[in-house]
Amino acid sequence: MTIDMITGKTKIYGIIGFPVHHSLSPIMQNMALHVAGIDGVYVPFAVAPDQLAEAVAGLRALQICGFNVTIPHKVAVMPLLDELAPTAVLAGAVNTVVNQSGRLIGHNTDGDGLIASIVNDLGCQVTGTRVVLIGAGGAARGALAALCRAEASSVVVVNRTLSSVETLLSSFASGFPKTKLRFSAFGEQLSEILPSTDLVINATSLGMAGEKIEGLALALLPDHAKVYDMVYNPAVTPLLRDACAYGLKAVNGFGMLVAQGERAFALWHTKPADSGVMRGALDAFLSSSAKA
Ligand code: NAP
Repeated sequence: MTIDMITGKTKIYGIIGFPVHHSLSPIMQNMALHVAGIDGVYVPFAVAPDQLAEAVAGLRALQICGFNVTIPHKVAVMPLLDELAPTAVLAGAVNTVVNQSGRLIGHNTDGDGLIASIVNDLGCQVTGTRVVLIGAGGAARGALAALCRAEASSVVVVNRTLSSVETLLSSFASGFPKTKLRFSAFGEQLSEILPSTDLVINATSLGMAGEKIEGLALALLPDHAKVYDMVYNPAVTPLLRDACAYGLKAVNGFGMLVAQGERAFALWHTKPADSGVMRGALDAFLSSSAKA
């Protein structure tokens, strides 16, 4: 799609967030639209938190066909929509909105994106797996919902603020009998759990500014254990560096970013994005940015 190809029939999609200029979604969604031959464009919209209701009303009035929702609007957008899909209800957050004949339907593709990336990028099955999930914010909530749906055998949620974990776990307690849920503090209590853990997932923002996760002794993990860091920028966090030093297979959240985008695309266009197109677009963009 070039600017001279935009007509009255061109469908408009987008992403709302604040800030939104750093989002990589326009790169991958526009490339996927182009390759699929869809007459559409995907545009970033910076929406300040106190303007969210007006922005959603505007997107509705403009008949925008669909949009992604990113930080800090994933929870606040929920009451502004007409309907929530089960994925959004369970995750307690919306990252994708579909405009279905004027009705705005909220979905969550983050959780399924995470599971797809764990399977494809880490080579790890989730069903029957013993997981330590670090974090209790929005990303952790989506991850927990997806891990329960994928029937992990246990999930221990670890967080700096334990009261947030208790709140999080109380809403999941009875719905998933196949997944044993409990929480732990960092340090000694976690050290007793790590030797019987198959998969560690970081769902905190620790690592984005080069921070280590204190109180997580990776040396105690069994040799087969794997590490997933949802942070993808920087590509190599201290957690990933340490995991590699201990010989553990570990990946960043790049694959999750791509997989949630592919699922959003499929919801809007009722056909999947061509395989590998979004990942290829991001790889090309990031390598050209690194050279610049
Ligand atoms: P959030 O709701 O703000 O939650 C932040 C989490 O990080 C909380 O558990 C918080 O613990 C913890 N935390 C923050 N600073 C900490 C510190 N100094 N020490 C210990 N814990 C700390 O954020 P979010 O939306 O869940 O996002 C979390 C991360 O996931 C971000 O890095 C985001 O980029 C990433 N993410 C990646 C993808 C992807 O596609 N790869 C998708 C979604 C999110 P407290 O409760 O104690 O404050």
